[in-house]
Amino acid sequence: MASVALRSVSKSFGHVPVITDVNLEIADGELVVFVGPSGCGKSTLLRLIAGLVPVGAGDIVIDGEVVTDIPASKRGIAFVFQSYALYPHMTIARNIGFALETLGLSRQEIDAKVAEVAATLKIDHLLARRPRELSGGQRQRVAIGRALVRQPEVFLFDEPLSNLDSDLRMEMRMEIAKLHANLAATMIYVTHDQVEAMTLADRIVVLNRGRIEQIGTPQQLYHAPQNRFVAGFIGSPR
Ligand code: ADP
Ligand code: MG
Repeated sequence: MASVALRSVSKSFGHVPVITDVNLEIADGELVVFVGPSGCGKSTLLRLIAGLVPVGAGDIVIDGEVVTDIPASKRGIAFVFQSYALYPHMTIARNIGFALETLGLSRQEIDAKVAEVAATLKIDHLLARRPRELSGGQRQRVAIGRALVRQPEVFLFDEPLSNLDSDLRMEMRMEIAKLHANLAATMIYVTHDQVEAMTLADRIVVLNRGRIEQIGTPQQLYHAPQNRFVAGFIGSPR
């Protein structure tokens, strides 16, 4: 587990500023949700934290260490996307354990870790199957399992449940809340879904055009939105 800090982070694509002077401190073990309209920079912010795109200016700090120039693979971060991005030709077991194969673990060690993660996510009966034989919810469990097995310091979720129907979304939301409670892991979670934001978040960050509009607990934002924009996302009707 680790704290995450963004210090005056900015990013442009070409001449278009997408993230502008974002400052944010996320505590060790905190679950922070990013919300904001489509195109406001939520995914870009996650990619900057993960190191998948380089910052234009500013610094990313993980556990007190400036990681701005450290490659993604060495940041101790796991990323769960909306599209499951599973390897279609590999079994579920291999999909989950694949990242460990490059770390020099023995077959037995990998199998043991995969089994443990699969049990946690209740997909142990699916390990011999291929992704196409799974439902959307099961595939998303596999994607989460793949992140879990690496025991990352920080989890990033980019709208992980938005492809699922509403029953499944609720079930997986509770699963993620449980994981967060059990692992006490630091998580940054992007969603469009107000209920997801309100129920999962320790704090919510409202983004607008690449800037932070307001940061607060769900209660703070709900009862005291700073402006109409924030109220439109999570505020009480007023
Ligand atoms: P969100 O996730 O909030 O919908 P994104 O972070 O995906 O927003 O995108 C923010 C803005 O940056 C959008 O205008 C998008 O078109 C632009 N953008 C994102 N990635 C790239 C890229 N690789 N090249 C150029 N523009 C990009
Ligand atoms: Mg996005």
